[in-house]
Amino acid sequence: MATIVEDIKNILEFYQALGIERLPIKLKGYNEKCSASKNRLSSKRHLSTADKIAALKALREEIGDCKRCRLSHNRTHIVFGEGNPDTGLMFIGEAPGREEDLQARPFVGDAGMVLTRLIEKMGLKREDVYIANIMKCRPPMNRNPEVDEIAKCRAFVERQIEIIQPEVIMSLGRISASILIGNAKLKITAIRGKFFDYKGISLMPTFHPAYLIRNPKDKWLTWDDAQKVLEKLKSKG
Ligand code: URA
Repeated sequence: MATIVEDIKNILEFYQALGIERLPIKLKGYNEKCSASKNRLSSKRHLSTADKIAALKALREEIGDCKRCRLSHNRTHIVFGEGNPDTGLMFIGEAPGREEDLQARPFVGDAGMVLTRLIEKMGLKREDVYIANIMKCRPPMNRNPEVDEIAKCRAFVERQIEIIQPEVIMSLGRISASILIGNAKLKITAIRGKFFDYKGISLMPTFHPAYLIRNPKDKWLTWDDAQKVLEKLKSKG
């Protein structure tokens, strides 16, 4: 046995001397496990509450009086996001609307009332969860954000997620889901109600609350999705 180990060592040292740093070997199960845990470890899962608050504050300061895209021309306020930085559950919408732009708070208009009711029906309060949007500024007339605007802004919500490290994200509407999942062609009707993986975090896409105002009959589907989220949170302890 000692000679086999010695032989392998000699071969590996020979390869190393040739400048080869890694062997093209795939050990079944091992590589997958490593990359899954790397995803987890590279996030700031173990930040204390105080560190999360400080990191979110620093991120808000970095955004500053943002002029990175044209949405800055018409906005009243940047809407950073709010809630419990230590939460297991994050809601991520698309972009602030009129009321959010005026108050600098996410989901405080009509759609916000629907979201707040959903959160309360789940047995939670708004202060228990964290609410943010992909876009930090209101698009004029609530139009969809454009590709270059999304490209300038998406890193901020990604960093909020990385700091907060929730167990579950509920994305609200097609745009939020497609950005987090990384596929612009997704249909919300096809993907809602199923869990996706976002960097090791369970992601549940559901309908946007504004859609539910127009289509109240689909509220029960969103309630279904919310129950799956509650189950998932329970299973994660
Ligand atoms: N719609 C959103 O997507 N986000 C808000 O904050 C309000 C309305």
